[in-house]
Amino acid sequence: THFGARTVPREEKESLVSGVFTSVASNYDVMNDLMSGGMHRLWKDDFVRRLGLGACARATGKAPRLLDVAGGTGDIAFRAIEDIAKWLPPPPDDPPPVVVSDVNADMLEVGRHRAEERAVSPRCLVFDLGNAERLPYDDATFDYVTISFGLRNVTDIDAALREMRRVLQPGGRFECLEFSQVSDPLIRAAYDLYSKRVIPELGARVARDRPAYEYLVESIRKHPAQLELLSRLAAAGFARPTYRNITFGVVAVHSGYAP
Ligand code: SAM
Repeated sequence: THFGARTVPREEKESLVSGVFTSVASNYDVMNDLMSGGMHRLWKDDFVRRLGLGACARATGKAPRLLDVAGGTGDIAFRAIEDIAKWLPPPPDDPPPVVVSDVNADMLEVGRHRAEERAVSPRCLVFDLGNAERLPYDDATFDYVTISFGLRNVTDIDAALREMRRVLQPGGRFECLEFSQVSDPLIRAAYDLYSKRVIPELGARVARDRPAYEYLVESIRKHPAQLELLSRLAAAGFARPTYRNITFGVVAVHSGYAP
């Protein structure tokens, strides 16, 4: 596992990642808007819309069970619930259809707060503490498993992929939204400049935490490119793995099905 220029032991990466997200939790949402110029909202809107949760709910007459891994403050979960709710009233029984799982308690706390503000019932949405590498759920529990801007923070990506496949029902769908690699040389040069100069500066001035945002840029640079991640989905046992680029490959969506 690499962190910056040197290799760091696993425990150290885990505590670094956890420190980063504890530090950024309170201004996480504002910083996302600022750094991506609001783009992350469009990426997430499109990502959730294409899951087709509403259509699935309409077809089966019940809400699909969705697990959002590394779900943080609930950006994917709130969109998913909105989509499902268009078709179905809140479910009367447990278990709740949408589960946000994250390793960081502070991110989850911000998420719970948002749920209260939006009057989203705890019957529809739960926030669980959990590590993506060892998910605390039985095999074949969910219809959908998503992870959005989370995979690159996980120490053992392959273990996390296998876990996410394990908790999916046969035929269940996995979708990963994550920063990826820009291949066009011109766009890449502009993007590199923005990442190296602008993002750490914004982190220092707005969130008063330059190292956390230097970590962000570094973690994007180190994350496997589109084709490598695709083969790791296959290696983790996903059927029909595919990907599509968004915004020149600044982000990519990787998908697969549990066999
Ligand atoms: N999914 C949310 C979104 O799209 O806005 C949050 C993304 S945030 C950039 C990354 C999240 O990954 C953080 O909330 C962090 O706590 C979580 N995370 C990092 N390592 C993790 C792990 N091993 N297991 C579960 N969550 C993890």
